[in-house]
Amino acid sequence: MVDNPFVFVWPVDQDGFGIEHVGPTGTTLLGSVQYDIIRPKGGPPRYYRPLDDYPGLWRPFAETCSSVEGVLTFVREFGLLTDRGTEGPDEILSTAERIRDIVTLLDDSDRAGAAGLLNRYPPRISEPLYWNDRSARFETRLVPFTLRHALLHQAAETIAGNYQWRRCGNEGCPRWFRLGQGAHTIRREYYSNRCRVAHARRQKQGATTHG
Ligand SMILES: [Zn+2]
Repeated sequence: MVDNPFVFVWPVDQDGFGIEHVGPTGTTLLGSVQYDIIRPKGGPPRYYRPLDDYPGLWRPFAETCSSVEGVLTFVREFGLLTDRGTEGPDEILSTAERIRDIVTLLDDSDRAGAAGLLNRYPPRISEPLYWNDRSARFETRLVPFTLRHALLHQAAETIAGNYQWRRCGNEGCPRWFRLGQGAHTIRREYYSNRCRVAHARRQKQGATTHG
């Protein structure tokens, strides 16, 4: 699964991630160099498929990553945005800020502005040809270089397709879903049936506790 070049899979360290303070490495002409990095703790990785498992991940990513604490919360669940092994929280914060700006522009119906902002650093994606046994023909697959590029890809698809997204109504659920997709109507409130049932169960428990 990990070596399948046609499916975008992403690792998350199962032991978690920590912030490491680097430096000061002495005084240079530019002053003392000091910065933070997020480093995986070196546990076994678990893998998931960001584009298939979380098609709306760019939205909770942008919301969660508005502070270093939020960045750590996101990374512990979904991994770093890069494949370089470590990453500065500032790099993740600035990607999240750019996506929040794109969301704001889309909310103002400024798709041209959103496209311009995305195009400053467009997502990098490879496009291998995949042989589909069932249809007996080649198909193209889009495989983002990293999770950062997958999130930007989701934003780009949203701008291009004029997609609308909604947060799952089950509190604490990290999933967003696209409105009007497939058989789902504009009134849909939950990502899945499982989310709906979990929400109803919690409501019931709350009523029992307080009632
Ligand atoms: Zn949900």
